[in-house]
Amino acid sequence: MTTSHFGTIRRSFSGELLEQEPLARHTSLRVGGPAELFAVPDNRADLLQLLKTVEEQRVPWFVIGGGYNLLIRDGGFRGVVISLSKLNHMEVTRSGEIRVESGVRNIDLSRLAEAHGLTGLEFLVGIPGSVGGAVRMNAGAHGVEICDHVSSLDILVDGGIRKYAKDSLDYGYRRLQLDYKEIIIGAVFQLASGTPEQVSAAMDACLQQRQETQKVRFPNAGSFFKNPAGQAAWRLIDDAGLRGLIVGGAQVSEVHSNFLINRGGATASNFLQLAAIIKERVFKDCAVQLEEEVQIMGED
Ligand SMILES: Cc1cc2nc3c(=O)[nH]c(=O)nc-3n(C[C@H](O)[C@H](O)[C@H](O)COP(=O)(O)OP(=O)(O)OC[C@H]3O[C@@H](n4cnc5c(N)ncnc54)[C@H](O)[C@@H]3O)c2cc1C
Repeated sequence: MTTSHFGTIRRSFSGELLEQEPLARHTSLRVGGPAELFAVPDNRADLLQLLKTVEEQRVPWFVIGGGYNLLIRDGGFRGVVISLSKLNHMEVTRSGEIRVESGVRNIDLSRLAEAHGLTGLEFLVGIPGSVGGAVRMNAGAHGVEICDHVSSLDILVDGGIRKYAKDSLDYGYRRLQLDYKEIIIGAVFQLASGTPEQVSAAMDACLQQRQETQKVRFPNAGSFFKNPAGQAAWRLIDDAGLRGLIVGGAQVSEVHSNFLINRGGATASNFLQLAAIIKERVFKDCAVQLEEEVQIMGED
C-alpha cells in the first residue's frame, strides 16, 4: 500500500485505524506479523464506505472476527484487515426471532437466547469468537452446528446488502460456501421455545464437557484439523505417535492432540512446519489426508 492509499482511506473513514498493527494481538494462537492497516468500522455505513474505497484503490482486504480460528503468517498482511467488532447489536423480536450483527460474541448470543428461554444455541456458549466467524466456519459442537439454526443471513456483496434465506445457503461440516468478497453482516436465528432453566442446564452441560476434555492452558485455535469423515483427527495424530511433538515454540498439546499450542515464543512458521509434519506422518501411517480447519492468511 502506498502513502496515497493510506491518505485516501483515512480521509473517508471515521472508525479506528491502526497502522502496522501486529495481528498476533488479534488471534488466539498469538502469532502473525502486522497488518498494514487494521480498521474497525464504527457502523455499517462506515464499513460500506471503507470497502468502496479499498475496492477503488485495489487494496487487498479481509475480515477478521475474534481470530480464534486464524493462523496469520509471519509476514503479516499487505492490505487492510477489517474487524467487525463494533457491529454488535442484538435483539429478540416479538415473533421470537433473534437478530444479531456479526460482531456479536457467540457467548452473548447464547446468553441472550438463554434469557428468553429459547433453545438450540446452547452449544455456542463454549465456542469463542464472533457470530460472523462462527457462521462462516459453520461452528459446531455436541452434534449441533450454527447454520442448523440460521433462518437468514445478511451478506454484504458488491456494495449492497442481500438477504439469503437458509434454504439458499450451501453449508456443511465446518464450511459455508461464500465468495471471499462476501461479508456476513448479520444473522437471524429461529429457535424453539424452552424455559431459561432448561436452556441454562444444557449450557452448563456443554461447558462441563468442554472443561473435562479441553483443559488446554496455552494459546491455541481449538481443533487445528477437521475430522475426516467417520474419524477423529486427534486419534489419528495420537496413533501416529505425535502427541507432544514440538517445533520451536509450537507443540501438539499433551492434553488434546488436535490442539496445537503456543508454548511461548512460537512463530507462524513453527505452526506451519508442525502442521506439515503431522499431515505427512498421518498420511504415511493410515493414508488419511488431514485438512486444516484453521484458516491460514497472510504472507511468509
Ligand atoms: C479454545 C477453543 C475452542 C474452540 N472450540 C470450537 C468448537 O467446539 N467448535 C468449532 O466449530 N470451533 C471451535 N473453535 C474455533 C473457533 O472458535 C470458531 O471457528 C469460531 O467460530 C471462529 O470465530 P471468529 O470470530 O474467531 O472467526 P475468525 O477466526 O476471526 O475468522 C475465521 C474465518 O471466518 C472469516 N470471517 C470472520 N468473520 C466473518 C464475517 N463477518 N463474514 C465473512 N467471513 C468472516 C475470517 O476471514 C476467517 O476466514 C475453538 C477455538 C478455540 C480457541
